Amino acid sequence: MTARIIDGVKLAASIREDVAKRAANLTAAGMRPGLAVILVGSDPASQVYVRNKVAACEKAGLHSVMEQYPADMTQEELLKRIQALNADPTIHGILVQLPLPKHIDSHLVIETIAASKDVDGFHVSNAGLLMTGKPLFRPCTPYGVMKMLESEKVEIRGAVAVIVGASNIVGKPMAMLLQSAGATVTICNSKTRDLAWHTSHADIVVVATGKPRMVTGSMIKPGAVVIDVGINRTPEGKLCGDVDFESAKEVVSAITPVPGGVGPMTIAMLLVNTIEAAERARANT
Ligand code: NDP
Repeated sequence: MTARIIDGVKLAASIREDVAKRAANLTAAGMRPGLAVILVGSDPASQVYVRNKVAACEKAGLHSVMEQYPADMTQEELLKRIQALNADPTIHGILVQLPLPKHIDSHLVIETIAASKDVDGFHVSNAGLLMTGKPLFRPCTPYGVMKMLESEKVEIRGAVAVIVGASNIVGKPMAMLLQSAGATVTICNSKTRDLAWHTSHADIVVVATGKPRMVTGSMIKPGAVVIDVGINRTPEGKLCGDVDFESAKEVVSAITPVPGGVGPMTIAMLLVNTIEAAERARANT
């Protein structure tokens, strides 16, 4: 079977173009959308993610503020900074790059971000709204996956979807979005017995485990659609996903590559969430 390779770079570019138009409209109306990105510490991967997010904002005409603090910043200082950004009318979205240093309670930090500015969609009230089918912000990565499935015209209603990975930022919200769109969803985790049984019965498989190339072609039903969220670095320094692309592409009908798949979509959806936050703020003024 010849698999379609789902091009996240191209789709993300068209979404970013749309965001740029909406940003220009808001700016012309006197409200430039603004995103604040906070990084604590000097984790190299986080620095790259944050730089990419800020650059994407600037390119789309959004105002972005990047705040970088040393790893020994206290929790209290961080919470104060977030409270100030909550009250800042020029900032419509606030993102605190995870993971945070061990002495800082990530949960408390996320809960301190105003739910109306929580463009990552991690705040419990946003998780609850998603769960009850009335999302305000959809977490960026699962939101990007939904856009990819939509643009590929993948039939979600009635499909069997298996998500491998149950994190709060990817697996669980992914399950909610697919379920809301009419799929029958199974979420697998590290304790799942016979993972291959689950994946091989699925029409749609989304993998987000952080385990390089763990899902192979032999675990996939012929003709299934596979979305690989994973970003891992091989010992040779190359990027690879959580799916073994080479064996999977022989079986699937469509698959996302790594790099060039879900990654660019995550950033594009962050911009979408920020512009939506700004548009809502304007509607409320
Ligand atoms: P977490 O480590 O928070 O969660 C991993 C999940 O995978 C857990 O639920 C864990 O199960 C499950 N898991 C681990 N091993 C297995 C296994 N052998 N079988 C089944 N399930 C397993 O990871 P994240 O969700 O934050 O990230 C997952 C991957 O996605 C990473 O590679 C990350 O870099 C990438 N990522 C990519 C993004 C993008 O934009 N493309 C954005 C965010 C993440 P348990 O609950 O039992 O521990």
